[in-house]
Amino acid sequence: MEKEKLAFINPATGAQFGEIPMTRPDEVKQAVEDMRKAFPTWSGKTVKERLRILRDFQKLLIDERDEITNILNQDCGKSRQDGLIELFVTVDMLAQYRWNAPKWLRKKRVSSGLYLFKQCFVEYRPHGVAAIISPWNYPLTLSLPPLLAALIAGNTVVLKPSEVTGATGVLMERLIQRIPELAPFVRVVHGDGRVGAALTNARPDFIFMTGSTATGKKIMQAASETLTPVALELGGKDAMIVLEDADLEAAARWGAWGAFFNSGQTCMSVERVYVVESKYDEFVQLAIKAAKELKSGYSSDLDSPYFMGPVTDPRQVKVIESHLEDALAKGAQVLTGSKEQGMFYNPIVMSGVDHSMKLMRDETFGPIMPIMKVKDEAEAIRLANDNAYGLGASVWSRDVQHAKRVADQVEAASVIINDSIAQFGVPMLPFGGIKQSGFGRTHGQEGLMQFTRPFSYAVGAAPISWDIATILRENGHYDLATAIMGVVYGTSLRQKWETLSQLFKQKPKTGTGSKVPSEPVTIHK
Ligand code: NAD
Repeated sequence: MEKEKLAFINPATGAQFGEIPMTRPDEVKQAVEDMRKAFPTWSGKTVKERLRILRDFQKLLIDERDEITNILNQDCGKSRQDGLIELFVTVDMLAQYRWNAPKWLRKKRVSSGLYLFKQCFVEYRPHGVAAIISPWNYPLTLSLPPLLAALIAGNTVVLKPSEVTGATGVLMERLIQRIPELAPFVRVVHGDGRVGAALTNARPDFIFMTGSTATGKKIMQAASETLTPVALELGGKDAMIVLEDADLEAAARWGAWGAFFNSGQTCMSVERVYVVESKYDEFVQLAIKAAKELKSGYSSDLDSPYFMGPVTDPRQVKVIESHLEDALAKGAQVLTGSKEQGMFYNPIVMSGVDHSMKLMRDETFGPIMPIMKVKDEAEAIRLANDNAYGLGASVWSRDVQHAKRVADQVEAASVIINDSIAQFGVPMLPFGGIKQSGFGRTHGQEGLMQFTRPFSYAVGAAPISWDIATILRENGHYDLATAIMGVVYGTSLRQKWETLSQLFKQKPKTGTGSKVPSEPVTIHK
């Protein structure tokens, strides 16, 4: 039977530049089984050994930078430099993980409490086969960092890149295959949501998915059948708050950058802006100026004159257009920008927006910066939180303490003060969401540790009769156990004394010993 093909289409030109057969469901299952067989070998290597192999991969990524940015440029339409940013973040994270992972993954001794004659430890063991399902907006840097974290932790991996950017999927597969010591422990499966669903159903031991909230819910539902743990990095509707004491020029410039970088196709792009009344007019003018400076177009040169490429996925154009139409029908105005030919846009800045519009509620994921006037910072916070998502946010104020006080009240998993998006570029900061933006983390210590499960063990000789922990477990020691609990954990001298003195009191033969007399309860079988 002929296999269905996945075509590689350059969204800037519409031209096909390659294709690959889609992975069939039985092949997906086989890939998971192969990785399960390979797991003992990879997880049996020391962390140091795994990191040595991944050092070769780090070298390869840097050596192949031009080929990587070339494919990203054709696959997404983004500039080569924007492609390099994806690679930069990936390499930066790998380097930092190589430095920190041995320390983070080390076996840890913990207090044994009253079990004085035992030693207690936690080991951080890999899950087994990790499935990584990724989106198209940053096809490299939303695939490789979780893949590398999973590998460092000792998992084998099956990666399912987005069907929209299939060429990057093939590129990543080829790069991995070029490291012979790594190749047997990673499989890449190619295709659309059906391939993703087949992977979810193939019983991997952990699923890490980045994508839309709707797909995240489907994956979680499917994973619940086998109680497979999942980490979901989902959509966002990040708010930017401009306070009265903000540096307006910087806020407009970097707010526009955050709204239009990657043509707004960033999970934590600036999707809505709230500006306090007194600064609104000035900010809007500055934002229009900043947006007009950001040119859109396509170039495959290493240095492109364009800031914005096309929208990558034709399906996304429909979402953007529907948000635009809905907002215009409800009274919003376009201050600058428009849709151009093909899937290109010039940055669109809008005013007259409110929360009745899809543009202010749902994820647009496109090059629109809606700006809303608010009475004061309290209203800005209230509106920022009036949303189902909780990924990131940004707050602008010259007074950093002031900005932090406001940021603390915003319902988001990460906030950046006096900048936008850049917190994702810091690999030691865990990144993820709350609310409908999902859970789990990429980057940071948390991004690595989620690919492990804590394994606990306690060790010692057989219980000794006079050990506190043994006394506690043997019948007839109620008062003694009470005294030990009271003396060790009593929260006041009075409580410590009261529980200790109970040991020496004359007791009734039956009953609870409490002031309220009660009959002992006997259960008859
Ligand atoms: P998507 O949900 O359409 O697809 C994501 C991946 O899931 C793709 O590989 C797709 O093939 C696969 N998939 C689709 N249906 C599936 C199913 N039933 N079972 C298993 N896998 C399935 O998302 P997208 O359009 O590729 O990406 C854009 C979305 O990703 C936006 O919502 C964006 O906000 C979000 N995103 C989130 C983050 C984050 O870190 N939180 C980062 C980037 C993008």
